[in-house]
Amino acid sequence: MEIGWIEALQEKIDDHMISARSDLDNYRYDSSFGEYSPEAVVYVTSTKAVSQVLKIANDYKVPVTPRGQGTGLSGGDLPVHGGIILDMSQWPASVEIFPDDLVARVSPGTLTSVIHAEADKYGLMYPPDPSSSNISTIGGNLAENAGGPRGLKYGVTKDYVLGLEVVTPEGEVMQTGGHTIKNVTGLDLTKLMVGSEGILGMITGATLKLIPKPSSVQTVIAAFSTMEEAGKAISKTLTSGILPAKIEFIDQACARAVEEYEPLGLPTDMEAIVLVEVDGHPTAVQEEATTVCKIMKEVGGTNVFLPQTNEEASRAWQARRLVSPAIAKIKPTKASEDATVPRSQIPEMMVRLAEIRDKYNLSLVVFGHAGDGNLHPNILCDERDQAEIARVEQAIEEIFHAALELGGTLSGEHGIGTMKSPFLEEELGPVGVDMMKRIKEGWDPNNIMNPGKIFPDKGQRLILSRRLEE
Ligand SMILES: Cc1cc2nc3c(=O)[nH]c(=O)nc-3n(C[C@H](O)[C@H](O)[C@H](O)COP(=O)(O)OP(=O)(O)OC[C@H]3O[C@@H](n4cnc5c(N)ncnc54)[C@H](O)[C@@H]3O)c2cc1C
Repeated sequence: MEIGWIEALQEKIDDHMISARSDLDNYRYDSSFGEYSPEAVVYVTSTKAVSQVLKIANDYKVPVTPRGQGTGLSGGDLPVHGGIILDMSQWPASVEIFPDDLVARVSPGTLTSVIHAEADKYGLMYPPDPSSSNISTIGGNLAENAGGPRGLKYGVTKDYVLGLEVVTPEGEVMQTGGHTIKNVTGLDLTKLMVGSEGILGMITGATLKLIPKPSSVQTVIAAFSTMEEAGKAISKTLTSGILPAKIEFIDQACARAVEEYEPLGLPTDMEAIVLVEVDGHPTAVQEEATTVCKIMKEVGGTNVFLPQTNEEASRAWQARRLVSPAIAKIKPTKASEDATVPRSQIPEMMVRLAEIRDKYNLSLVVFGHAGDGNLHPNILCDERDQAEIARVEQAIEEIFHAALELGGTLSGEHGIGTMKSPFLEEELGPVGVDMMKRIKEGWDPNNIMNPGKIFPDKGQRLILSRRLEE
């Protein structure tokens, strides 16, 4: 008698796996919404194991959901159709630096902050810096094309990937790209894999581009009594001839939440706080920081502050990093969005967000990477209050519509996953969606890789309430 797929995995795979229902509970969630149980989790630690699992899954047509550290905010690693979770978090961290090539080769389960620290030892920098870099894997960053504050000047994950090792849905191992900065041989499968949210294959290794670490950085902090002034300060800075490494924005509710969570000295009586970091040669940095201070003051900024020590500057950035955990204390449920607009539209988007907040009577706070238009409106609510959740769903829909109307996008960095798929066609149009589906069908004829992501199921709409299974 033919054995079942779980028995086939148990027979062939040496890596640890679990399949008892009582052991699978932790894998029902990620950092977004929804609750779906896998039928097995395999803790893969080698390319060979990934290949063996995918061969079995493909033979038996069993869904496979890749999972890094589960910090994704769009539902990407929820096993919506059951099957196998391939957990990459136990894969030993490995960062091999090639200083003469300014390149790093990394394993998929490596935390991004470990790559930052290793590059730093050679006076080099891996610029992509998601705020989750201490708790997310490079595999997850690659699959989501993660961004972060430094995206303003340095770009995002895709801008630093030279090559990948990929296991295809049929279990074959493929190398894409290479070790060189320039490479135009054939179609760019590296870029296609980056941001593919685990629907095209497993990323089991990456070659990353590094750059020299800037020799000097300077932070500037300013507070504003209106959002409008903060918006003006951001656009005036961006058109002044200076390109800061980061321009981040925190609204008053976020500042208050951070100060309650861990007092770090943020002003709590102002509508908006803007944090800027300039980097480069020390002389240029001092000049640019002085200009930024001047601009902030000219448009009405108060409490304009230039930290003089590393400790002072790190406190400011620590405050920015704490926004997410701090606002999570306000109410039990947090719906995080990352609708992104052209930079000129930031002030209008702020107006629209305030209107949506008032219309649906919700606690909506905003922070984010204002320098590149990537705002993070967060709605704080209580999942147990069905009436409130229904208003949140409507508000999120309006946020997406507003971003698209203003020439923006559904997601600047968190991905589509399950959360934004119902709106995909509104941004891409039917031809764009169809072309993407054809690529998916070509790569993964049995649709085993992360099914139920990016492309909406028929009639699917945004539903935040968890789908509780028995
Ligand atoms: C507090 C907080 C702050 C955050 N800040 C940022 C930010 O500043 N910028 C930003 O971009 N995001 C941010 N995020 C979102 C999240 O951290 C990123 O999306 C991150 O890249 C996910 O990494 P992960 O290891 O947790 O992957 P997971 O969440 O486990 O997986 C994410 C997606 O990648 C797929 N995947 C994972 N590993 C692989 C692999 N090896 N091969 C193929 N597919 C794979 C999964 O199937 C899933 O679709 C934040 C999240 C939190 C909780």
